Amino acid sequence: MIIVCPECLAKNRVPEEKLTANPACGQCHQALVPLAPIELNEQNFSQFVTHSDLPILIDLWADWCGPCKMMAPHFANVAKLYPNVVFAKIDTEANPRLSAAFNVRSIPTLVLMNKSNEIARISGALRSSELQKWLDQQLNAPS
Ligand SMILES: [Zn+2]
Repeated sequence: MIIVCPECLAKNRVPEEKLTANPACGQCHQALVPLAPIELNEQNFSQFVTHSDLPILIDLWADWCGPCKMMAPHFANVAKLYPNVVFAKIDTEANPRLSAAFNVRSIPTLVLMNKSNEIARISGALRSSELQKWLDQQLNAPS
């Protein structure tokens, strides 16, 4: 499968069974699937999302949003548990065009994407256990 490096946006071909072995980018040697949320923005979004074969869970947030800040550590915790899902954050204030493209009505909003397609979204702050439960349901749902 193709994994886009969150650091340098190089496309890396990684065998699926190597995913849990913390694969590194062939170009910049950074972790390809860091177990911490990555930052997506208007510059790297389309390159990353179009070419990545991994599902991407995006947290649309803003600095002034209390519930977003409450959820942030939960989001980061759950990220460690899913080497087969890319956890990403988009600052809606800094990226108004992306936020408009997602038609964000309230934050935090979580959007699960697979190969450029939105497959699920949920709004409101979630705790780790709720987030995990929701994510498992979406990943196991027949598409
Ligand atoms: Zn790289």
